[in-house]
Amino acid sequence: MVYNWLEIARQAVFPGYCELCRGKAPAPVPLCDGCRQELPWLPPACPTCATPLPKGRPHCPRCLAHAPLLDACQALFDYAAPVDGWIRALKFHGRLSLATLLGRMLAARMPDGNGATVIPVPLHPVRLRQRGFNQALEIARPLKARGYRIDNRCCVRSRATGAQSRLTAATRRENMADAFEVRRDVHGERLILVDDVVTTGATLDALARVLRCAGAQRVEAWVVARTPPPRRAQRGSGQGVDR
Ligand SMILES: [Zn+2]
Ligand SMILES: [Zn+2]
Repeated sequence: MVYNWLEIARQAVFPGYCELCRGKAPAPVPLCDGCRQELPWLPPACPTCATPLPKGRPHCPRCLAHAPLLDACQALFDYAAPVDGWIRALKFHGRLSLATLLGRMLAARMPDGNGATVIPVPLHPVRLRQRGFNQALEIARPLKARGYRIDNRCCVRSRATGAQSRLTAATRRENMADAFEVRRDVHGERLILVDDVVTTGATLDALARVLRCAGAQRVEAWVVARTPPPRRAQRGSGQGVDR
């Protein structure tokens, strides 16, 4: 794995230094305390879709109206600077060290895995060949050190769905229907999906649906960033995100 060696080389050049300001940063995340506090951490959010909650409400109106397919969904950040730039640099410029950075922050937030299974959201094979890596798998890797098992073969994206960023929530859902296949027996399992960004949740919901149909007992999702909910997005801040 060439990029792992690049990562080791990068850390050898900048041991214990902050990714943003180059100040001193303790392991395991290469960020100093000051820069870490300034990141766009997600405010209190709905436990099943990670949408920021209306004041004083324990659930969002959408999840109360329609039972969500995911048992839980957690996001670390708002899709805002500098995290949005990191995710784009990772996906479109191959900066794999940023997946390590984001994955370590995700791993630091989660409980010990004790062998729990993590499924990185798969890319379609054509997209995977173009990009050369799956960002969700790269973000999931640091979870291994917390005792999680990463299963990259369980699910495949059997249908190319194209860029989702210009589609509405409803057409995204249609676009994602039957996009995934489950390739092994998951009966009775508790599974954790990992991805870089959640926008409408259509991708995670589609994957959760096939895993449930295949017998999974529980499916939750952990994502690095949540784009603004639809009403805020319409006012012009971050629109959808291409995979
Ligand atoms: Zn710093
Ligand atoms: Zn919700």
